[in-house]
Amino acid sequence: MKIRDRYAPSPTGLQHIGGVRTALFNYLFARSQGGKFILRLEDTDRTRYDQVYEQNLYDTFAWLGIQWDEGPDRDGPSAPYVQSGRTALYRQYAGELANRGLAYYCFCTSGRLEQIRIEREAAHSGDTGYDRHCRGIPPEEAAARAAAGEAHTLRLKIPLGGTTRFRDRLLGEIEWKNDDINPDPVLLKSDGFPTYHLANVVDDHLMEISHVLRAQEWLSSTPLHVIMYRSFGWTPPEFCHLPMVMGQDGKKLSKRHGATSIDEFRRQGCLAEALINYVALLGASYEEGKDIYTLRELAERFSLDKLNKAPAIFDYKKLEWYNGQHIRLKSDEELADLCLPYASDAGLFGAAGPSAEQRLIFVKAMALIRERLSFLSEAPEKIAYLFREPELPAAEEFIPKKADLARAVGLLRLGGKLARPLAEAADDEAAEIFIKEQAEKNAVKLGELLMPLRVAVTGARVSPPLFGSLRILGAEKALERVERALEHLSR
Ligand code: GLU
Ligand code: ZN
Repeated sequence: MKIRDRYAPSPTGLQHIGGVRTALFNYLFARSQGGKFILRLEDTDRTRYDQVYEQNLYDTFAWLGIQWDEGPDRDGPSAPYVQSGRTALYRQYAGELANRGLAYYCFCTSGRLEQIRIEREAAHSGDTGYDRHCRGIPPEEAAARAAAGEAHTLRLKIPLGGTTRFRDRLLGEIEWKNDDINPDPVLLKSDGFPTYHLANVVDDHLMEISHVLRAQEWLSSTPLHVIMYRSFGWTPPEFCHLPMVMGQDGKKLSKRHGATSIDEFRRQGCLAEALINYVALLGASYEEGKDIYTLRELAERFSLDKLNKAPAIFDYKKLEWYNGQHIRLKSDEELADLCLPYASDAGLFGAAGPSAEQRLIFVKAMALIRERLSFLSEAPEKIAYLFREPELPAAEEFIPKKADLARAVGLLRLGGKLARPLAEAADDEAAEIFIKEQAEKNAVKLGELLMPLRVAVTGARVSPPLFGSLRILGAEKALERVERALEHLSR
């Protein structure tokens, strides 16, 4: 069998974690099977459509590095891949169902539908949905009224009584009472445009979709889709409804939990690789003892057997951890390229951007902070002291435990004398050997000796590694900073 699956978003909002999870699983499944992954734009809801959302869709997946084989921007045998360009097809297929008596014209006005809703509410009736008022109109009469221009919709005949069964790849056999299905859903709206149900089924069939992997919230639509496939005489695709994605409180992941749009994660300094890695684990498990995967490794391992039934919990802390891990996999150059935009925004360089020298310093600085970053956006603040003189904190910050100001000044003077050899040391190891000797010789504790020097050079007690910072800054700047700090402490 040819494996073909699809991501079928409606461009009515920004791409979020749930959507990307669906797209990613479809992508991985297609890749793992040597199949085709298709993007189809389900833009039938023209009132909520916005070009911004469509652009966001392309931008998001370009950034993630997930490419479809067929789609609006790539063409393919089932073009167009945008539903608004396929209206004639939907009308044709819906018309066929009407001709065969499997769908019928409904002439009810919105006023009438509203009226039944009010009456039912008043009567505390549990009935919802359409009352099938027009289902009994003789087909010839209905067709004549429609042809004469009377406003109408077209509704699917859901069988009265009985059940509809289908198999979900993950959830197993599903049986639905037909009486519990939306009574006769609209296929074509009064403006002649299709509803989601019609367009979705017609397209999945025409695009030869073999597997529908979609969010579990669509499960309740599936029985009626299955009825539609049968009405058309088509074989339904294999369905696989993916586990829900929840926040840590067990409720469906939403804005209340924090960022959900991919844009927000991206702005915060999430790596595409980390997001993919973490999202791929939302509802699937791969192998024991391995956490870090590339997109390629995921595609090699993915299988529908590895999906979990239980809902997936989206944990922001875990994403942070994955991000840190993927940051550690980047070279200095790569990481610098990723962090530079944040540093420019933070004003670390002049308006013209980093000079060649600043760029060089920036690349070197990556080694100092790589292990300390959770998100790219944290970089500028951590290494600002390499680009401008730090603001010096209050004198107390220079004073080691159980010492006083005079002692701190003494220690800083000593540190100042050592700054040049430290800045000129070949590497951390050489610097360490040297400073240990000096501490011993001067009978001071190593920590005490380094502390005031660190504050003078970096502006804080806690900073990226001092020796590396000194080597990047160079002896001259380091000495200037020590002088400045001594002056600061004498005030
Ligand atoms: N357009 C639907 C959505 O926005 C597609 C659901 C499906 O995959 O069938 O998710
Ligand atoms: Zn009606």
